[in-house]
Amino acid sequence: MSMRPWQPFLPYNAVCCRYSEIGTKGRNRGSFVRRLVEGLGRSLGESFASPRFEVERGRVYLYPGREQGGLLTREQWEALRREIPNLPGIASVSPGWHCPRTLEALQEYVWRTLPQVVEAFLATHSPEERTYAMRVNRCDKSFPLHSDEIEKGFAEEVFRRWPQLTLDLKKPALRIGVDLRPSGIFVDYERIPGPGGLPAGSGGQALALLSGGIDSPVACYEMIRRGTNVDFVTFHSAPYTPEAGLTKICDLARILNHFQHRGRVVAVNLLPFQKAVRDNCEEKFRTVLYRRSMMRLASVVARHFQDEALVTGENLGQVASQTLTNMRVIQEASPMMILRPLLVYDKLDIMAVARKIGTLDLSQIPVPDSCTIFAPASPATAASLALVKANEARLDLPALLQECLRQTTIMSTVTYQAHPFPELLEQPLAL
Ligand code: ATP
Ligand code: MG
Repeated sequence: MSMRPWQPFLPYNAVCCRYSEIGTKGRNRGSFVRRLVEGLGRSLGESFASPRFEVERGRVYLYPGREQGGLLTREQWEALRREIPNLPGIASVSPGWHCPRTLEALQEYVWRTLPQVVEAFLATHSPEERTYAMRVNRCDKSFPLHSDEIEKGFAEEVFRRWPQLTLDLKKPALRIGVDLRPSGIFVDYERIPGPGGLPAGSGGQALALLSGGIDSPVACYEMIRRGTNVDFVTFHSAPYTPEAGLTKICDLARILNHFQHRGRVVAVNLLPFQKAVRDNCEEKFRTVLYRRSMMRLASVVARHFQDEALVTGENLGQVASQTLTNMRVIQEASPMMILRPLLVYDKLDIMAVARKIGTLDLSQIPVPDSCTIFAPASPATAASLALVKANEARLDLPALLQECLRQTTIMSTVTYQAHPFPELLEQPLAL
């Protein structure tokens, strides 16, 4: 099937949103659908002033407001194409027509709109690509005609009018979708694929360690796509790292928040700890030691937010600190479960997701990262837990972590303003 969008803009009167997995969730279906509708409202809210939603048997129908005579505007249609591919929980979405439940109404809608569609189709498809099918889904078993009778009836007329088209029931490039439902018929010519997954907010909440790199924003998105709401914590080393690092994190968080309920952004200054490590510990263990304390500090934030797990963009074998051995040494210091949704991804796949969700360009702007401060020339790739712990024992861990927490702020992703966060000091450190 040709993936380039070639469909013309037509006076659609409804949008059919399909979800796959949540259709199978039995008792939870009500809240899943509610969250899906919330997600649609959040993503499309700017373009749809007063959308009306209707839920019916595995579908959510979206009707544009009355302002435009009940028809979709071009801007709304473009918003669908832009937003739907990244909207968690959506299998696909079709702009189309809700019409009365009779064969005559179906014929009227199809013959009124199909010529324009075929014209655009022929203009963009080579002779061997010009495959056609109508697929009728007879959800309403009381409809007087069977699916194949309807399909055959239309096919005869279609091939009479446009002999350039050939029938392909499996993968037609031009597909007329018809849903026969108790409440009416839905007709469409286009399916905008969503990312699948589960609607935002249906799968608990977690705290992601967000750095300015390419990976961690993608890790956040993958969690969000599975329904988990994500808060963010970032580590900096002010004044060694610039202010721009934090505005970049806020910008990334703002992009990610587009796909979920508003995640909070917390910025921790790791410098007090890093200095102590520089002055007291073996150089090759620095990175692992930083990471262990990042997990401890993140856990304090997570407990405060009641987040259930930590999320990182770690990827097996990508850099020295990301060997299995080092991940185990880092995990050992974490009072919380660490989730690594990108563990086995290839870098190119991670970059493709980053591009799709709109974080790649931002991530590629170079800003010095906290981890590069006092970074060891050759970090240990397989740190021994015993040696790491012996190094750590040279530090006054509780005092250092408290000092980092004292220098922790919660940030506005809009104004970039940092506010003190003294509540964190009341949380137990759980070392
Ligand atoms: P990324 O592209 O996400 O920065 P990376 O490939 O640079 O990842 P590392 O630098 O080893 O890999 O970081 C691994 C993970 O640790 C990151 O994905 C992120 O979740 C977390 N992390 C690293 N540095 C920071 C930081 N300064 N603040 C918050 N989290 C961080
Ligand atoms: Mg990084």
